[in-house]
Amino acid sequence: MERRSFLKKAGVAAAAGAVTFGKAPAVLAAKKYKWKMVTTWPPHFPVLGEGADYLAQWIEEMSDGRIKIHVYGGGELVPPLGVFDAVSQGTVEMGHGAAYYWAGKMPASQFFAAVPFGFNAQQMNAWLYGGGGWDLWKELYADFGVVPFPAGNTGVQMGGWFNKEIKSLDDYKGLKMRIPGLGGKVVAKAGGNAVLVAGGEIYTNLDRGVIDATEWVGPYHDLKMGFYKAAKYYYYPGWHEPGTVLECIVSKKAWDSLPKDLQAVIETACWRSNLWMLSEFDAKNNDSLRELVDKHGVQLRKFPDDVLRGLHKLANEVVADLAASDPASKKVYASYQAFREKIDPWTDISERTYMEALRL
Ligand code: CA
Repeated sequence: MERRSFLKKAGVAAAAGAVTFGKAPAVLAAKKYKWKMVTTWPPHFPVLGEGADYLAQWIEEMSDGRIKIHVYGGGELVPPLGVFDAVSQGTVEMGHGAAYYWAGKMPASQFFAAVPFGFNAQQMNAWLYGGGGWDLWKELYADFGVVPFPAGNTGVQMGGWFNKEIKSLDDYKGLKMRIPGLGGKVVAKAGGNAVLVAGGEIYTNLDRGVIDATEWVGPYHDLKMGFYKAAKYYYYPGWHEPGTVLECIVSKKAWDSLPKDLQAVIETACWRSNLWMLSEFDAKNNDSLRELVDKHGVQLRKFPDDVLRGLHKLANEVVADLAASDPASKKVYASYQAFREKIDPWTDISERTYMEALRL
């Protein structure tokens, strides 16, 4: 009796569900969305721009054509660094870039891209998805009417290209290096001269000696940029960008106009993009590194331990200064540090011990 009663009730519930699902969404299901996505990358730029292209393609496929997105490279519709404003003002529905580009507007955004000596890609994902980081990111962007999604990661970058060897922290004194963001502040604290140079001009500046060093991304990208023709030494690891997150941003107004299933499509496509980019870099970097070393005679160097120790100390000061600079940064930093106290010991027990075990 009880079972039959339950089944009966379930049947009614199911029928009620069918009615509910059958009506309102039928109108929404027919609605088509034509969106624009502006990006900070040159059009179809390897991995990063390609990732934005794929993201649009996946969203169209998963929504069965209900959302169509036209992707614009940086400068095609708005300047690369105008992406956030365009989404915030609702000029376009979507953007793709990295949170640290908006540091001038909200310094705390840098925690959602890269922190020198901060989280690597795996730790970053753990903090964002599992440790409350993404919620803080959403909160930060909410004031601007923008909804952020993690949508890519470079993995640990390379330390950069130098035209002289770095043997001690003193070698940074007077060094003119293209290195943006918090990493640049660390280099400046070490006595260097951190400069900003647009991507397209780095090679010429390095070749002509306008700058002594530059960082970019990793072997796959750096090979394509041709830096090996202008600088001899290629240093690792990229302490300044240990797992840089790329972001997809959506205008809050456009986001709220979507039915729940299409919101889920966009969110899921961003998760896919996050994994795709990291896998793409990891799959390609070593082949490019071998080509740089074996074919082009690049001198591969690890930063000496003393240099890394010194830079780490300076980086902690830079990040603490940032946290003290505004209330939003203070709040995000507190979450970042609290998570670090949990994730670092676990990474030691799991990933690090395992990698060391491979070498015994
Ligand atoms: Ca970089």
